[in-house]
Amino acid sequence: MDIQGKNFIGYTLSAEGDHTFQSYIPASDSFLDDHFHRATESEVERTMALAESAFAEYAAVPAQSRAAFLIAITEEITALGDQLVERAHLETGLPIARLQGERARTINQLTQFSDLLREGSWVEASIDTALAERIPVPKPDMRKMLVPIGPVVVFGSSNFPFAYSVAGVDVGPALAAGNPVILKAHAAHPGVSDLTAQAIISAARKTNMPEGVFSMLYDDGFEVGAALVKHPVTQAVGFTGSFKGGMALHKLAQEREDPIPVYAEMGSVNPIVILPGYLEHNATELGKTLAASVSLGAGQFCTNPGLVFVTSSAGLDAFRGSYKNEIANTTSATMLTAGIYKNYNKLREEVFEQENVSKLVVSENVNAAGNQAQATIAEVSGSAFIANPKLHEEVFGPFSLLVICKDTEELLAAISHLKGQLTATLMADETEAASYPALVRQLAKISGRFIMNGVPTGVEVCPSMHHGGPFPATVDSKFTSVGRHSILRFVRPQSFQNWPDSLLPDELKNSNPLGILRLVNNMQTKDPVAI
Ligand code: NAP
Repeated sequence: MDIQGKNFIGYTLSAEGDHTFQSYIPASDSFLDDHFHRATESEVERTMALAESAFAEYAAVPAQSRAAFLIAITEEITALGDQLVERAHLETGLPIARLQGERARTINQLTQFSDLLREGSWVEASIDTALAERIPVPKPDMRKMLVPIGPVVVFGSSNFPFAYSVAGVDVGPALAAGNPVILKAHAAHPGVSDLTAQAIISAARKTNMPEGVFSMLYDDGFEVGAALVKHPVTQAVGFTGSFKGGMALHKLAQEREDPIPVYAEMGSVNPIVILPGYLEHNATELGKTLAASVSLGAGQFCTNPGLVFVTSSAGLDAFRGSYKNEIANTTSATMLTAGIYKNYNKLREEVFEQENVSKLVVSENVNAAGNQAQATIAEVSGSAFIANPKLHEEVFGPFSLLVICKDTEELLAAISHLKGQLTATLMADETEAASYPALVRQLAKISGRFIMNGVPTGVEVCPSMHHGGPFPATVDSKFTSVGRHSILRFVRPQSFQNWPDSLLPDELKNSNPLGILRLVNNMQTKDPVAI
């Protein structure tokens, strides 16, 4: 497929405006020849009008057909073959093997949502049959299920060109639930976005989905995204990126006449706490494990371990030595954009300018390519950390701060200063962990995913994954952006009172034609309702 460079307004390609931008290649600090057209106001209007009319039709498309649509998307993405991964490699600087893995994960995510639709219980159908004889008043027939919320605007992320972008963790569940999606392509990888959008449009055509079920608009500034969030047709927003970006969109959404939810996944420093006994017995191995996690993917993960807490105890010197050695031997890696690279170096320098912060190590091998991030570890005492909130913030990239506390009391005080996180990790054996209940409680309180003796990088896609966390990791800690429950961001519950069986959605009919698991008068069952 050729790159189109035009906005995807349903099945129509549109290039109304004069403003264009090009793909940036971070590894060579140069631009590709393709031109992408920033969407105009009238293109935004046409897109939203189409999404509104598509919603009326798409919400009524049976779950089995939506499942087939999602599978068709995976087939179209697969059919794009190497060109998709190669374009992503050019536009992001991420290694081919990592991108192949991410594409597989994206296909897996969509397949899981297709399976969910076929299985059906995700709508949480609940049926309370009428009790005409109830005293003092009869009980009405009351039935409830989850229904789609309406058109969803999704912002593609910079750091996952597949898994959190055009066919990623927001788009899959939004489409699965029955909502049209309007994608604001990330300016950092417009060519990948273009190819993926073509795959989705092709799948939509092949499975006879209503036009407008998916649209994608370009912008290399903030105007189009802001207009989409403010547009009255939009009913929810999915976002992954910076705290600043997420909060700006959240504010816009709250200022609307009818405020809407913005499910923003933002910054996280993902603290790791290593208890003294564990440090002593695993010092060298811990140095290796943490160095690999900090430097993975040039540290451009929302789960990058940005803070490591230890105590001044027996294993510390061996751990520091191993950590230092491992990081020194890593090789620099290309960052996603010139802006992200510049920001990494700026924030890293700002940390070093803080009082009592010293450099433990900076990776020594630097590639000749552009935008090369060097893995860096800084260190600070527990008391200096507690006194300086600047040190509690994320440095996006292969950076981590080692906080050396004088004892476990100071360690508890230090982690009590942390805000909400996507993850927290405890390194301890079972007996040692049980001896520090207050510390365990504190880490549990601030985290969405609580890890034991592992690293936070690597997000399993499965129903029990919670990828979210208390503010400011996300805007709403109740929701995940990964796994089947991520669909809950894009639905709302609706009750039907005293409706005739023939007019109810299939999920709520007495005969249970879809054969799904439901709650009937407080009993979980697949059986038809016996009246
Ligand atoms: P970003 O600045 O948050 O931008 C993400 C998306 O939101 C982009 O499409 C951007 O538009 C849009 N956007 C941002 N601010 C906006 C505003 N005020 N109004 C309307 N739209 C807005 O993230 P980024 O460009 O990917 O990277 C910048 C920084 O974000 C990184 O250095 C890093 O700190 C952080 N980041 C964090 C994570 C994470 O997982 N926690 C992931 C990625 C990035 P444009 O494309 O037009 O700029």
